[in-house]
Amino acid sequence: MTELTKKERDCLVDLGEKEGGKFPTRLVDLAADLSIKSPTALNLIRRLEAKKIVVHEKGMILLTPSGTKFFHEIVENHRVLETLMVNFGMDLEKACALSESIDFQIDHHSIDKMFIKLGKPGKCPHGRDITQFHEK
Ligand SMILES: [Zn+2]
Ligand SMILES: [Zn+2]
Repeated sequence: MTELTKKERDCLVDLGEKEGGKFPTRLVDLAADLSIKSPTALNLIRRLEAKKIVVHEKGMILLTPSGTKFFHEIVENHRVLETLMVNFGMDLEKACALSESIDFQIDHHSIDKMFIKLGKPGKCPHGRDITQFHEK
C-alpha cells in the first residue's frame, strides 16, 4: 500500500468523489474543496503524481488506475471502520472523523476480516453502500 499523508488522502478522496462528474477537476476547484491555496494544492498534486496516483495534464487532474483503486479501497475501509466503531457505541460523527484519520493506513485484508466479523453490512451508518472492492 502506498504511503500517504492525511492531506494527500483528502486530496485523493476529493478527486475520486468527483470522477465521473461533468468536468475534470481543476486545481482551483481542488484548492477550494480542501480550503487551501493553489500553490499548496499544486504541491500536493505533484506529490501524488510522483506516487503515480494522479496525472496532471492541460490543467486537468485525473486519477490513474492505481489512484482509482486506492480511492475505492479508502472508501470501503472508511465505511467498514465507522460501522465497527458505531456498533461498539461510538457517536457517528466521532466515528466518521476517526475513520478519516486511519482509513488510508489500514491494509485491505484486515478490513475484509472486520467486514466478515461485522456480518458483511451492506451500508455504513450514514446509509452509504459498502461495496466490497477486490483486486483480481
Ligand atoms: Zn464517514
Ligand atoms: Zn458513512
